[in-house]
Amino acid sequence: MSNFIEDIITADLSSGKCKEVVTRFPPEPNGYLHIGHVKSICLNYYGTAVKFGGKFNLRFDDTNPAKEEDEYVRSIIEDVKWLGADTSNIFFASDYFDIMYECAVKLIKKGLAYVDDMSPEEIKNTRGTLTEPGKESKNRNRPVEESLKLFEDMKNGLVPDGALILRAKIDMASPNINMRDPIIYRVLHETHHRQGDKWCIYPMYDFAHPIEDAVEGITHSICTLEFEDHRPLYDWILRECEFENPPHQYEFARLSIERTIMSKRYLKKLVDSGAVDGWDDPRMPTIAGLRRRGYTPTSLIDFCEKIGVSKANSEVETGLLESCIRDELNATAERAMVVLDPIRLKIVNRSDDFIEQLDFEKNPTAIDGGTRKVSFTNELYIERSDFEITPPPKYKRLVLGGMVRLKGAYIIKAVDYETDNDGKVTLVKAEIVEGTKSGEDNSGIKVKGVIHWVDARSAIDIEARMYDYLLLPADGKTDFSERMNPHSLEVVHAKAEKYLEGAPKLRSYQFLRQGYFCRDNKSDEPVFNLVVGLKDGYKK
Ligand code: ATP
Ligand code: MG
Repeated sequence: MSNFIEDIITADLSSGKCKEVVTRFPPEPNGYLHIGHVKSICLNYYGTAVKFGGKFNLRFDDTNPAKEEDEYVRSIIEDVKWLGADTSNIFFASDYFDIMYECAVKLIKKGLAYVDDMSPEEIKNTRGTLTEPGKESKNRNRPVEESLKLFEDMKNGLVPDGALILRAKIDMASPNINMRDPIIYRVLHETHHRQGDKWCIYPMYDFAHPIEDAVEGITHSICTLEFEDHRPLYDWILRECEFENPPHQYEFARLSIERTIMSKRYLKKLVDSGAVDGWDDPRMPTIAGLRRRGYTPTSLIDFCEKIGVSKANSEVETGLLESCIRDELNATAERAMVVLDPIRLKIVNRSDDFIEQLDFEKNPTAIDGGTRKVSFTNELYIERSDFEITPPPKYKRLVLGGMVRLKGAYIIKAVDYETDNDGKVTLVKAEIVEGTKSGEDNSGIKVKGVIHWVDARSAIDIEARMYDYLLLPADGKTDFSERMNPHSLEVVHAKAEKYLEGAPKLRSYQFLRQGYFCRDNKSDEPVFNLVVGLKDGYKK
């Protein structure tokens, strides 16, 4: 099923209104990209440029020198590349400052812009409301020559920050407040990350953006719904600056996900305050965080296809995002056994020199996934929750005198256990039921439970980082800082089969019965980040 943007493009191509589609992704380099940006990249690149054989630009909207940094430029290029989008056409809006300046001069000369001395507060107070028109500035009819001279003074550094502004002269009584003589240039004595100190006047977003699109020959300028009311201004600027074949703006619903922060500005606060371990903390909804968490480009693209593109804002459940990576990893991830909360289990009817190498399928869902060796001795670890002294009703796992199958090995029967002074189990003693080896079992014994285990003699110690939502439910709270989940990270010291020793960074595994875990890409220790739980895995 096509979405409304595709329908528009199909119509424009067949009517000849446009010959080749050119789209862009225009981030401001003031933070790392987040999953909302993934939606925009997927729409502009995969959904449009690729689908219609057009061109895709990555353009940095770096018109505000106060908040922009090269680190963000680097991270954004890395993230866009990682998503598989074309990064061969990279542009910087700041490279068009000369053109923007000329456009502003043109507007002044046409009597369509004037220099004003109002402060931001005065502008706000004279803007009017939805029911009342705005108040015209006393400088509105300033002679063209005077505005030209003052604008030049602004450009030449003769005017302090905030003393003068350039405003478009449109209509103070327009029903659209954006058309009430908006500011298009301001004085700002700040060093720009690329232009250095060449400029001390900077264009406002609403003025710069359409010019950037036009200069690059963008055909379909796709942005989020909150810019719908800015479209008349977008069109006005392109018309009055006399651009030929001007681009057209189309708006779609922005992505929001329950309990997920979707604003670079606020994500930066989390990083700066130390609430998270950097922009790539696996709890962050940034692309860098999602990558470190174990999300893949394909799972994110799949997610964007599933949510679709519409004109109605709505909130997506986290479960949908999780199901995309879970489905992918179910098909692609190797399996391994890890005991997160270990207790020792001793096989009493095997000697200390007993050892078997058992064959385990690396991935039972793969057609030819291959096998790995797992050693099995008389000293094992099992999960604490897989043995109960006084089991709850319908308990299917190990109890004293009861039987359970050790995954891929034997049926065992618990014969004894030891506890510490607090009554906590420290050791389970069990015996192998002879003739029950997996694959060769002809005993006819049926057991209800299968549990995973790790050979204690060859086990390695790993750290499993268990993640939960970064935010608590809103419950009427408006500020994110009041909603931080104190339990969003729990560190677990686990015992893992030796196979995981060789896990490459950012490789994900299914820990049997536990979930999918991804080897951390920062730590050199064996640290694994929980990607997502198993949908129908048992919960403690
Ligand atoms: P933020 O508040 O996170 O900085 P932004 O919209 O100000 O978001 P930009 O860097 O200007 O960030 O965004 C680049 C592009 O990404 C824009 O075209 C914007 O519409 C799009 N975008 C940003 N957030 C979302 C979102 N949640 N869903 C879809 N598209 C988004
Ligand atoms: Mg922004």
